[in-house]
Amino acid sequence: MAYDNNNIFARILRKEIPCNAVYEDEYVLAFRDITPKAPTHILVIPKGSYVDIADFGARASAAEIEGFFRAVSKISAEQNLTQQGFRSIANTGLHGGQEVPHFHLHLLGGKSIGPMVLER
Ligand code: 5GP
Repeated sequence: MAYDNNNIFARILRKEIPCNAVYEDEYVLAFRDITPKAPTHILVIPKGSYVDIADFGARASAAEIEGFFRAVSKISAEQNLTQQGFRSIANTGLHGGQEVPHFHLHLLGGKSIGPMVLER
């Protein structure tokens, strides 16, 4: 799937649309989900143009991949998610129920998130 430069997260990265940012560095932007599904619900996105986690793993540079996951650790600590635990989700494609075609990792916490999969 080709990357769509006008997806909502690309527009957030270009500052065309506001977001409630919690962290930003050279590699990532992290902001609160507009429709939170947990007391803490943060989206971490790479600054590069990647459709999903598979695209990111295949095409991103080693520095981008390292930068992304270093940031996830920093953000989870800063947001008090690390000690009690949290769930990270990367919905991918049609079967994954991905709505926004720019790779993003959901960080969900602040309470017990429940079972991983609701139905088979
Ligand atoms: P997906 O289903 O693609 O994994 O998740 C997309 C997420 O982006 C959803 O949880 C949705 O609430 C969130 N979202 C969609 N549009 C916006 C927006 O304009 N701003 C923010 N902060 N979150 C958004």
